[in-house]
Amino acid sequence: MRTARLNDGELQMVDRPSPEPRYEEAVVRMSAAGVCHSDLHVVKGDWTGVPRSGPLGHEGIGIVESLGPGADRYVSVGDRVILGLGGSGGGYWCGACEYCLGGRPRLCKQTKGIVGTYAEEMRVYAKSLVVLPESIGDNEVPLACGGLTAYGAVKKLNEHRLVPGSVVAVLGAAGGLGHYAVQIAKHWGYRVVGVDVGVERVEFVRSLGVDLAVDASEAVEATRAMFGDGAHASLVFTPRLAGYGLGMDLLRRGGLFVAVGIPADDEGSFELSPWQLFGKDPLIMFSAVGTVQDMRELVQLAADGHVHTHVSRTGALSELPTILDELEAGAFTGRAVITDLST
Ligand SMILES: [Zn+2]
Ligand SMILES: [Zn+2]
Repeated sequence: MRTARLNDGELQMVDRPSPEPRYEEAVVRMSAAGVCHSDLHVVKGDWTGVPRSGPLGHEGIGIVESLGPGADRYVSVGDRVILGLGGSGGGYWCGACEYCLGGRPRLCKQTKGIVGTYAEEMRVYAKSLVVLPESIGDNEVPLACGGLTAYGAVKKLNEHRLVPGSVVAVLGAAGGLGHYAVQIAKHWGYRVVGVDVGVERVEFVRSLGVDLAVDASEAVEATRAMFGDGAHASLVFTPRLAGYGLGMDLLRRGGLFVAVGIPADDEGSFELSPWQLFGKDPLIMFSAVGTVQDMRELVQLAADGHVHTHVSRTGALSELPTILDELEAGAFTGRAVITDLST
């Protein structure tokens, strides 16, 4: 089967033997794979500590082709499923530790990621698969990571009792994650400030129905002019470190700061002085991807028409290097999707 892999830092298209499902695993024939900004970071070597060789891609939709022993308790051959869970979890979890039982299986010591959706076939832990209704097409594949990560972050607002009507700033609102977060936050009744960079991207954010669409350079002034003290929460999706500082500047006293995007290591660290903490008294947290249950809830939101995926580029697997270059140049809003995994 055809697959894209990283070999010593070099992105290559290679042929590999088809995978065989093991205990509680399914083999899925992939029909679409989303291109996540994380893939770009991994290919470029932006994150030290992430291996420079191995499979790539963690957003997939496909058909269950075969099942290993015990997997038929979760899915059936022929099911159309979405998989990915953000890549960093969901490949396995023990189900019995304090994190698994507390609803945070990504923190389980035995957790494994789901990576390898840029392939004709993929072997995956069957418990992580979510069966799709027919109304959700293959182009919705970025729900698997982009959508789920946005959903997980917006759900943090609910979990911290931000009531409808609260002001939520979304940084990187035109991107693969941000454009989902804006829709979900609006659906849940929040007032949304969508922040991005450049006329075209801000215009796209406006088209999503936000209360205020604004360029990063004017965001603080415009938000204060419209909402007084600032935002009750900042969701930082942008992969640039500058978005972290801006997210904190946009926050009102006692606000909730949710970090999601991970900038390249060479951008350095996000610094806060203890006096800033004293003055603003923020609640700071990180939000990474989501659980299988989150994925089911998100699929339902999409099936009900509350969340749409904005795909501005499709292509075959062989176009992946070009698509990653375009992504790096900020050439498209929303997401790119690989719709042909065989060529
Ligand atoms: Zn991702
Ligand atoms: Zn566990």
